[in-house]
Amino acid sequence: MPATSSNSATNTPDYEVIIIGAGVCGIYLSYKMRELGFNFTVLEAGDDLGGTWYWNRYPGARFDSESYTYGYSFSKELLDEWSWSEHFAGQAETEQYLHYVAKKFDLRQHMQFNSKVKSATFNESSSYWTLLTEDGRTLTTQYLLTAIGMLSAATMPKIAGVETFQGQSFHTYNWPKERINLEGKKVAVIGTGATGVQLISEIADKVADLTVFQRRPNWCAPLHNSPIDNDAQTKIKASYDEIFARCKKTPGGFIHGPDRREYSEVPEKDRLEFWEQLYSSPGFGVWLGNFRDVLMDETANAEYTQFIAGKIRERVKDPATANKLIPTDHGFGSRRVPLETRYYEAYNRDNVHLVDINETPIEQVTPKGITTSKTDYEFDIIIYATGFDAITGAFDRIDIIGESGQSLRDKWRDGPITFLGLQTTGFPNLVTLAGPQSASVSTNFPRGIEESVDWTANLLKHMRDNDYKSIRPSLDAEREWTEHVKSMYEGGLASTTKSWFTGYNSNVEGHDILRYMVYFGGALKYRERLAEIVESNYQGFELK
Ligand code: NAP
Repeated sequence: MPATSSNSATNTPDYEVIIIGAGVCGIYLSYKMRELGFNFTVLEAGDDLGGTWYWNRYPGARFDSESYTYGYSFSKELLDEWSWSEHFAGQAETEQYLHYVAKKFDLRQHMQFNSKVKSATFNESSSYWTLLTEDGRTLTTQYLLTAIGMLSAATMPKIAGVETFQGQSFHTYNWPKERINLEGKKVAVIGTGATGVQLISEIADKVADLTVFQRRPNWCAPLHNSPIDNDAQTKIKASYDEIFARCKKTPGGFIHGPDRREYSEVPEKDRLEFWEQLYSSPGFGVWLGNFRDVLMDETANAEYTQFIAGKIRERVKDPATANKLIPTDHGFGSRRVPLETRYYEAYNRDNVHLVDINETPIEQVTPKGITTSKTDYEFDIIIYATGFDAITGAFDRIDIIGESGQSLRDKWRDGPITFLGLQTTGFPNLVTLAGPQSASVSTNFPRGIEESVDWTANLLKHMRDNDYKSIRPSLDAEREWTEHVKSMYEGGLASTTKSWFTGYNSNVEGHDILRYMVYFGGALKYRERLAEIVESNYQGFELK
């Protein structure tokens, strides 16, 4: 039963815990809260659960981490029961999986859908949070746990006339639930990040005509997806312990970890053989399984980058188009690498056209299509694959007001400041799962999130067992962590490139500065730090 007001007679809040978001993180949080017997609810903006896998219904949306490394690891029964059909499952299957999990563990009863949170305000005298939903309901809680997604605040480009277009148009994140008929249509895609790349590859041979508007190309590499046959299925199910143990050992929480050799230690011929092998293997090995200095050392990176550029030239027939698809502003791997299925081959088709908007900028969207400095294009459908106000964007869209009336949006205006990416001073009893500066946002998401959720669940149990009512980080702990996060950006090539890792988004005012958004120290270091905090009886936090 959805609560509508706090229980002022007994001065207790409606809930001990409110979770915002019923995606991958919120689902596991609700499992843990139920296990611990907390009085809790989940507020979800969508009309069903699934988060990322509910919203991103665009054609081609699928995992780029192996399906069996993405599923939850907490239940042996679940692992035995669920069979992934492909090595990299698509959106529909993943959504079904999350539905299956919620049903199996009877979690829907705790979820309130169509419940978009408008504001959350901390009350200093009671230490409770008061939430207001967009449909006017008020709910109170002792602890507020956000599971609002790291890539859930979709951003549209600032182009004149977007609202005047008379055909169909949508951002990939808001892809309609009903089937969109692409057959015979003239389609435009703006954006060539991981989303655009998946979408373009998938629809190139289904539409009559596809025009891709590209600002900066990305370094993409083959996904090499395939079905999981019965033998492989049996092997996967028998080796889940080893699979998750392997993920625990790698900095990214994937099954792919760096090769411990330095690039310069290996003779050129062997290097090339190794790179060929990476390029023809499934998944992120091509990015994360490389010599350990390829993402750190400019010379090593430049040589690998040339190797990948060669692959693009081999795959794209027209040399001028190939040149446009080869990034010149950053080396391979310094932005997140989109994994693709015949992406480059799409540009060999007569019905696919690449427009470099640096050469011919988009001037406006018109009722009939898009006008660049050179051409008036007409389209039936315009698709915006223009990305997200990453990680902090979802927080900024809620009015989160902490002690002394301070807004979180203001506090994080020039970049997030946190302790462990889980809490921030001035906002007691708020735990930001998958928050900025946590490892969950830079690693294989479910692996990272399971650890943060377990840690948070243990924390709340500890608070309850010891009759504490509020938790906040100390200023020193927050300062130290934020400095540590910054220091992890030093030396890595990723910090030199504009992307959501570094907090840039040209479509959001004020986001044209370097912001320290993710924890680059890796999952192992992060895990150790979380464990140390517990061992030291929550040093760095003030529990009252
Ligand atoms: P993105 O990587 O931020 O890419 C957005 C694209 O839109 C970029 O090509 C960008 O160009 C372009 N763009 C933005 N504003 C524009 C404007 N005003 N005019 C023209 N072009 C504009 O976003 P995304 O592709 O949605 O991916 C975000 C993240 O989601 C990925 O990095 C990944 O972590 C995740 N993801 C994962 C999967 C998966 O396989 N599991 C699939 C999709 C996405 P610039 O590069 O020049 O800014």
